[in-house]
Amino acid sequence: MGTDTWPQCRKCQDGDLLPLSDFGGQGAPIHYKAWVCSNPDCGFNIKIRNGDVYQNEPVASGASHAPRIR
Ligand SMILES: [Zn+2]
Repeated sequence: MGTDTWPQCRKCQDGDLLPLSDFGGQGAPIHYKAWVCSNPDCGFNIKIRNGDVYQNEPVASGASHAPRIR
């Protein structure tokens, strides 16, 4: 129940595609900028950047932005 709110992932047919939002340079919210599969084993993702659509980009875990260890 409640899991059929989002479209099903077409790749793994198991997870749901969850919409992600971002904030633009002016702080304006960009709704549904990216969709990511909820199945961690699938990792399918699609996002829009500057009007172009990107599929299955490597998911940035944030490690690249980790603070330097002094
Ligand atoms: Zn999937």
